[in-house]
Amino acid sequence: MPFAKNNPTSPIKSFLAHHLAKVVALAAFLILSLISMTIIYQNYQAQQQRLIDYSASLGQTSFNSSQKSLALTARSIFVSAIFKDDIFKLMAEAYHGDESVRAQKRQELYLKLYPTYQMLKHDNLRQLHFHLPNAISFLRFHRPDKFGDDISAVRPSIVKANETMQSVSGFEEGRIYNDFRHVYPIRYKNEFVGTVEISFSVDSIFELMLDNHVEYSAILLNKTLIQHKLFSDEMHNYETSAINDDLLEDKEIIGFHDSHSTIQPEILHQIDASIRPQFNPECDTCSFITQIGSSYYLTHLFALKNFLGEKVGYIANYHEEPALKTLKKSYLQVFAVYEALLVLISILIFFYGRNLLSQQEALKRLANIDSLTGILNRHAFKKALNEQVAQSRERKNPMSVIFFDIDHFKSINDNHGHLMGDEVLKYLTLLIRDGITHNDVFARWGGEEFVILLPNTSFTVAQVIAERLRKRIELQSHFNFPITCSFGVTCLRQNDSAQSLIQRADQLLYDSKHLGRNCVTAHE
Ligand code: GH3
Ligand code: MG
Ligand code: MG
Repeated sequence: MPFAKNNPTSPIKSFLAHHLAKVVALAAFLILSLISMTIIYQNYQAQQQRLIDYSASLGQTSFNSSQKSLALTARSIFVSAIFKDDIFKLMAEAYHGDESVRAQKRQELYLKLYPTYQMLKHDNLRQLHFHLPNAISFLRFHRPDKFGDDISAVRPSIVKANETMQSVSGFEEGRIYNDFRHVYPIRYKNEFVGTVEISFSVDSIFELMLDNHVEYSAILLNKTLIQHKLFSDEMHNYETSAINDDLLEDKEIIGFHDSHSTIQPEILHQIDASIRPQFNPECDTCSFITQIGSSYYLTHLFALKNFLGEKVGYIANYHEEPALKTLKKSYLQVFAVYEALLVLISILIFFYGRNLLSQQEALKRLANIDSLTGILNRHAFKKALNEQVAQSRERKNPMSVIFFDIDHFKSINDNHGHLMGDEVLKYLTLLIRDGITHNDVFARWGGEEFVILLPNTSFTVAQVIAERLRKRIELQSHFNFPITCSFGVTCLRQNDSAQSLIQRADQLLYDSKHLGRNCVTAHE
């Protein structure tokens, strides 16, 4: 580089300028990535939540309507099979009779309704249970040998039916089973003679529910409630839920529609284990996503309320939800496309920025460089001179200036042509440049006139340098015609300005011209 010694743009600056483009591009990438990632993730979360909510409401609606349809079934069983004069009469006789009469009536009732009970059992009937007034168990079709016990303490639905003499419907945990129960009052000749309960297990509801998925359902009941109500020898029907130690799962419930559509026990166990740390016993409806292998499972827990409206546990619905997988996949794709676009944008920013910076740098260089010789121009020299004068003053360092002008350059142009004149200017620049140091500031003052600023250089040394340069030019053999220069040398004085310094050097150069050229005139 012909002007390397005097290039005002340092390598550090250009290095920084180069990295600025990289830093800006990287920062743009990170900021845009963060923004897009946040937006995409929030959208994904919102979509996922919509899917969960939709699935939960579908599950809840399907459970509720199944429950309602079983209530209608119970009512029609009551109306068609029990609401009969002979059955009501049997109950009235039992109510009024002693223990032996009751035993006889119980037997009669059992035999009368046994075929109906057997048939209804196929249709998922869980319990057919007759009671005398005041909630005394009269005949359990599922346990005909257990009777005579007062169930008022554990069966508020019977108590309520006794009190109101109206039918009562809803979920209730019992001494043996937990069912959706429908209790109807029995009146014979205007006298209240007892109640009958027609109930269905939760399984019957599960069976009626929509089956769109690979799914499994369960009933989870509060442990304290079960322990309080159940016959102690019936506890084997329950096991502690893997979701929470205070919940018991009713093992009697089959929980699925057919073996092809169920979730395997080991998968259910993994799902329960994943729910366990997230489960909040206060929640009424809560949903959980579990990823096992490449499958996504969605589990909803719906609060199960008894006929009094008290929360007694949960209906759990587990199902595989492929839509969750699809959703995640599509969002990952969107994310990948965005990131690829951002990488592209950042690369464009990088190249555009680097181009802009190098253009700026080139413009700056052009403004300071002489186009023919590649060394500093007068404008850049003046800037450097002002800085150097101030620095020398401050540090009390000497500084000198050498002015020189090519002798009879007009006749070189005239004799050898203007292009040759240009070659002389260029070659002379190289000669001088090689004869000075890196710290020296070498510039073309204008035409065939040059100037050298020598920082930290005494007048005497500057004089020697000028003489050496004069000789170097005089002795050149690059051209087959002689080239000489006249020199003016001076140094910074106490009261000098940059301008007065230059003026003096220029004047000394003209003194050399008057003294016959090809010589150095120096003055302190
Ligand atoms: P002196 O010894 O008194 O300095 O005589 P001189 O002929 O060198 O001085 P003068 O001022 O009479 O002429 C300078 C010439 O330099 C005139 C001009 O055409 C020529 N010149 C100035 N700039 C350039 C340039 O860039 N290229 C060429 N080829 N010639 C130039
Ligand atoms: Mg000249
Ligand atoms: Mg001149």
